[in-house]
Amino acid sequence: MERLTWGGVDCLELAKNFGTPLYVYDTGIIKSRCRELRETFMERWENTTVRYASKAFLVKEMARLIKDEGLGLDVVSIGELYTALKADFPAEKIEMNGNAKSHEEISFAVNSGVGRIIIDHPDELKTIEKFARDKGIKQKILIRVAPGVDAHTHAYIATGATDSKFGLPVDISEGSMLNYSIKYAMASENLDLRGLHFHVGSQLFDPDDNVKGLEKTLELVKKLKDTFGFTTHELNCGGGFGAVINPSVSPVKCADFTDPMMKLLYNDCKKYNLEVPEIIIEPGRWVISEAGITLYKVENIKELPELTYVAVDGGMADNPRYALYQAEYEAVKVEDIDAPVINPDKKFSVVGKCCESGDILIDDAKLPSLKAGDIIALYNSGAYTFSMSSNYNRLQRPAVVFVENGQAREVAKRQTLDDLIANEI
Ligand SMILES: *Cc1c(COP(=O)(O)O)cnc(C)c1O
Repeated sequence: MERLTWGGVDCLELAKNFGTPLYVYDTGIIKSRCRELRETFMERWENTTVRYASKAFLVKEMARLIKDEGLGLDVVSIGELYTALKADFPAEKIEMNGNAKSHEEISFAVNSGVGRIIIDHPDELKTIEKFARDKGIKQKILIRVAPGVDAHTHAYIATGATDSKFGLPVDISEGSMLNYSIKYAMASENLDLRGLHFHVGSQLFDPDDNVKGLEKTLELVKKLKDTFGFTTHELNCGGGFGAVINPSVSPVKCADFTDPMMKLLYNDCKKYNLEVPEIIIEPGRWVISEAGITLYKVENIKELPELTYVAVDGGMADNPRYALYQAEYEAVKVEDIDAPVINPDKKFSVVGKCCESGDILIDDAKLPSLKAGDIIALYNSGAYTFSMSSNYNRLQRPAVVFVENGQAREVAKRQTLDDLIANEI
């Protein structure tokens, strides 16, 4: 019987010491992803930058790790920005995205000195300009565009189509949002329009959609130069690289995405006679998802004629991703990771303890025989789980533990019952 270890730490011990559900991250894997980004992207191609998309997973200790690894940070709210600043993340290496930023968020971002604000609506221009003027600075901004690429992924995580809620359509005719925004920003004394941003979608395994997004955006770069004399100094190509379901599947390589993109970039810049802009990428899940597992305790097993329910002590409150867009997971029994999968023709569903039938973690799981009290681990659950968690059914948000080289340390405590009522009057 081989037990599951993560970062060299026995997962049964982790469950015992920190309780379940439990988010466990192998920081060795996170660091190796950061290294891969540096070595196969930033060091191979000049004038390139990586900003980790912190919405995938952020606690203060994660911000410190990303800072130590020499990457920048992408935030989309005042809360993410505040967390990063509280971890002493340098503001100039932070960019703020978001399709509905409030005045409060923009004010906080400008006054904190964030490096870039990526505008997603023309109305933001005046707001940023006002706060920048009050502060006496020229705020660097990019404009997010929707390049009209419909990414091959679940509709809820595709973001680059022309009817997306994100970005401005690439139409530059008189009266269009983009036409107005470019002219406004170019004329402003307090805005420094550095370039463009696009993000086609998430959980992608083929670079085609990103390459197509870049191709369309470079056409726009050329048009902006011809029409407005505008030079794009920076081009942010978003994130989206996929994460694989379990550790036995080879991970996506960063270079499989970035090499074809960079080749197209050099090619098209030559073709259009453009200066090559700085290229920024913002991977989230690819950095963090495979480094994370979630440990759950089996509360009970309900055998029905057609299927068997394995009910665990967490669920959609700590991981709503199946409920949101049918994200796929695989689990193992922590005590015996090679235990044979039973009843391959009978469906096993791993479900949570929340009061929703959609509270599913794995709809059709391959699992060995289990009993109440067993611990299971959900692989590839480091992204958009802690960050999307809620207190539904007044469940307490689980703790987060970082593991590496046989050592475990808690970086976020489990919420207490008093935390649940702390803001109530
Ligand atoms: C969500 C998002 C990302 C990160 O996506 P991943 O799939 O986690 O890599 C990057 N940039 C923007 C603008 C996003 O919305």
